[in-house]
Amino acid sequence: MNSTTNHAHTNTTFNNADFDEIGKFTRLADEWWDRQGAFKSLHDINPLRLDWIEDQTYAFFGSKLNGKKVLDVGCGGGILSHSMAVRGADVLGVDLGAENLQAGQIHAKRTGMTDSLAFRCVAIEELAKEQAGTFDVVTCMEMLEHVPDPSAIVRACFELLKPNGVFVASTINRNPKSYLFAIVGAEYVLRLVDKGTHDFHKFITPAELDSMAVGAGFGRFDMTGLHYNPITKRFWLSNANVDVNYMMSFTKGEKP
Ligand code: SAH
Repeated sequence: MNSTTNHAHTNTTFNNADFDEIGKFTRLADEWWDRQGAFKSLHDINPLRLDWIEDQTYAFFGSKLNGKKVLDVGCGGGILSHSMAVRGADVLGVDLGAENLQAGQIHAKRTGMTDSLAFRCVAIEELAKEQAGTFDVVTCMEMLEHVPDPSAIVRACFELLKPNGVFVASTINRNPKSYLFAIVGAEYVLRLVDKGTHDFHKFITPAELDSMAVGAGFGRFDMTGLHYNPITKRFWLSNANVDVNYMMSFTKGEKP
């Protein structure tokens, strides 16, 4: 459902937002920084994805996140945004769930990170009009499978990057195995995330993400799969398969 009701933010279009989806997160907003709460899995995977993102920026720029201007799209309560700021990046987190951003802002204040970590409730397509060509790195994690038109988000991410930049996105593949692992396993059996968090039909295959990114003007860079062992309760990254959760990186322009 596309909705413009009850969200009277100024200068923001909501054509590409599903407030049923966003509501799944905002109603749990006070749990963003509870490491054992509803977003435990995001906390658990965060060190892995943070390191992978740094590997990507190192491979492209020859330097890590320190000093980079970073945009985190669909940042939620800022789990990743905060950790990138701790690594020395200047981070802007954007989301359309105001309560999520408030949780991020409170945590940023509490941890003394407000100089390098800011949050804004703005549609990414609007931000692209305002701040095109200004970020070194754009991240968009676990978000594309919650929006009506993910390709429009990817295009906006392209516009927001400087002429040379790195884009990293993560989402969930769409196949019988991902249905079994990400919906049945994660939501019903292991209860890693709330029931109803994900809609199978909105999952995105790597080929689809790749064609969205290439269509936006990106070059393909790297890809890895995120795996979970329910016995040891550990996550790890492996390029061996991208059947369920995966991350892909793309580049804009040539290596500087
Ligand atoms: N990226 C964060 C949070 C993932 S949860 C992390 O990985 O830690 C998905 C987030 O996407 C939620 O915070 C939700 O509010 C946000 N979201 C969904 N649709 C959106 C849209 N159209 N624009 C911006 N944010 C959106």
